[in-house]
Amino acid sequence: SKDQGRGGIAYFSEEITRAIRERIALEARLRRAIGHQELRVYYQPQIDIASGRMVGAEALVRWQDPDEGLIPPSLFIPIAEESSLIVKIGEWVLRETCRQGRLWLDMGLPPMTLAVNVSPHQFRRSDINALVATVLAETGFPAGQLELEITESGLMANQDNATNILNNLHAQGVRLAIDDFGTGYSSLAYLKHFPLDVLKIDKSFIDEIPHNKDDMEIAATIVAMGHTLGFKVLAEGVETPEQLAFLQKAGCDVYQGYIKSRPIPAEEFAELLLEQQGD
Ligand code: C2E
Ligand code: CA
Ligand code: CA
Ligand code: CA
Repeated sequence: SKDQGRGGIAYFSEEITRAIRERIALEARLRRAIGHQELRVYYQPQIDIASGRMVGAEALVRWQDPDEGLIPPSLFIPIAEESSLIVKIGEWVLRETCRQGRLWLDMGLPPMTLAVNVSPHQFRRSDINALVATVLAETGFPAGQLELEITESGLMANQDNATNILNNLHAQGVRLAIDDFGTGYSSLAYLKHFPLDVLKIDKSFIDEIPHNKDDMEIAATIVAMGHTLGFKVLAEGVETPEQLAFLQKAGCDVYQGYIKSRPIPAEEFAELLLEQQGD
């Protein structure tokens, strides 16, 4: 009946209102969290496949909420992405990672490449070049040890500016990686126009190895073609010895994944490095 129909609409609009309220509240909490130093950077080791040694880490943000505990980025990065908050968060992660990286060097730990995610929103703003220059100067972290991860879709959405921004970052000596490769629509041939150093094969192609022959073929092809174009190739989301053996055979250069370690706090990463130094 008519009444029921209206009831349905009222119900949905209540739901929507609630969702919007929750979202605004979350945004406000997140804004406060940045000011109150509730964000943390965790580090996931990256391992050279041939030598088995750690060569770097990806910096991944977490939110240490006093009430709710450790909140994963999947619960707040998408919301941050839709406002300018992601720019603030990205800036903070970059500065914190470079500060930490400098500290590790000063402690005498072996030089590691530290990879920081750059959101499409951040990438659209051409002042990313100035920010990187400022943070490197401020912290004294070597440009050659900093790697910036840009997603394939972020690159595609900013084609006009992308070349200039990437050329400038490259000129600063920073390394550039394409994240989540294979999930967008760019071809390797297209990517060769950019000064990229690393291709990160998306986890979705690794997950079903060794059962999915298509994925194995795709992964091996990305490695081979990536090498032809002069890129280093990294596989992410490696969880099993079978996956690692396959990637080694395919000639993949570097991996990261739970098989070695989850993302861990800075102190734990430093401990892993000290252990490795002893070997
Ligand atoms: P991503 O950049 O693709 O990062 C890799 C994600 O895969 C991380 O999730 C990592 O913990 C997870 N991962 C790594 N190895 C494995 C594995 O073997 N198995 C499984 N199941 N997962 C694995 P995390 O830390 O939850 O981050 C999720 C996403 O949030 C990131 O995906 C990235 O898109 C975004 N993110 C995290 N930190 C930042 C940041 O500082 N800035 C921006 N813009 N985005 C960030
Ligand atoms: Ca990444
Ligand atoms: Ca990724
Ligand atoms: Ca991803």
